[in-house]
Amino acid sequence: MAIKPEKLLNKSLNKKVRIVLRNGMEYRGILRGFDEFMNLTLEGVRLLGPEGEGEDGQDIGSLMIKGYDTMLIIPERRAEFFILSRTILATMRTVELQRVSDSIKEMAVEACHDARGDLLEALKGALEDEDSPLGRDILEKLLENAEIAASERIPYCQDTGTAVVFVELGEEVAFDRPGLVEAINEGVRQGYQEGYLRKSMAADPLRRGNTGDNTPAAVHIEVVPGDRLKILFAAKGSGSENMSALRMLPPSAGWEGVKEFVLETVEKAGPNPCPPGVLGVGLGGNFETCAILAKKALYRGIGRRNPDPFYAGKELELLEAVNGLGIGPQGMGGRTTVLDIHIEARPCHIGSLPVAVNMDCHAHRFREVEL
Ligand code: SF4
Repeated sequence: MAIKPEKLLNKSLNKKVRIVLRNGMEYRGILRGFDEFMNLTLEGVRLLGPEGEGEDGQDIGSLMIKGYDTMLIIPERRAEFFILSRTILATMRTVELQRVSDSIKEMAVEACHDARGDLLEALKGALEDEDSPLGRDILEKLLENAEIAASERIPYCQDTGTAVVFVELGEEVAFDRPGLVEAINEGVRQGYQEGYLRKSMAADPLRRGNTGDNTPAAVHIEVVPGDRLKILFAAKGSGSENMSALRMLPPSAGWEGVKEFVLETVEKAGPNPCPPGVLGVGLGGNFETCAILAKKALYRGIGRRNPDPFYAGKELELLEAVNGLGIGPQGMGGRTTVLDIHIEARPCHIGSLPVAVNMDCHAHRFREVEL
């Protein structure tokens, strides 16, 4: 949250601060005063860098620094710093990248070993509603499989997937060092190694080979307001990913065209995406953002509807139509083809109606954390 500069500077009055100028000069001293232009007066000043390099630096006594020249003010003993520019001064929350790696590692192992609570509930609900004896038998086996995986700490599917990571990065979050994407990949590397998860990434799409550590993750970073850092992790299997599809419909196709495409995609997929799973449907955006919307829709908890009542209604309509196809658990027939369908919609060009269907399987391994 952006706050008034005066408030921040007042808090630091008569305290030690570190000042970084736009030209790279760095000082440490006691803040004795400031004016409305954020000109700063310091005493007991030491020049730390670039010429006074290092923590020892050189003593230079008192100093007045122009607000215009100041880039960062770092109060001592606080895990935040503030950026000063001609127009804004905002607090930045600092997050250690090590925490990002550790969280990714934990989420990867947990997602592959422990079925999420909403998935287990949905499978139990489907078992109650399923008419097909074979379908019921399969649902029971899936629940038993999840129980064994959790108790024996083993993955509940051999395909432990591509690591897909969405980062919602607050504008007021800074990291303690560069390398966010590498920190994410390090977490994947360690999680897949320590959790004995299969390394499934081919080094090249045509020449194949294996990267050996399940990296690189598919990383999507979205900058959002505030100082929040949310990380969403998925282990996405290829069986369901391969059955996913995108079509650029003409706007005249409307909802009926969208529905027809979703049904066609699920029918064509049959048993291949290891049903019953979840469908993420992206609507709008353009060619690439529509696919990302469909992927992100999968992270929403099973049973949670789109907050827009219009799309919440469309989700239920699609759910009924897709389960009416009779594909059933593992494609052996029955009423449970999908456990849920989530639609995410965005504005799009007047000449297009993009629609993407990202299929997920019964393993449905998704986790999220806020740091
Ligand atoms: S689609 Fe899902 S359940 Fe099927 S093999 Fe892949 S990860 Fe496993």
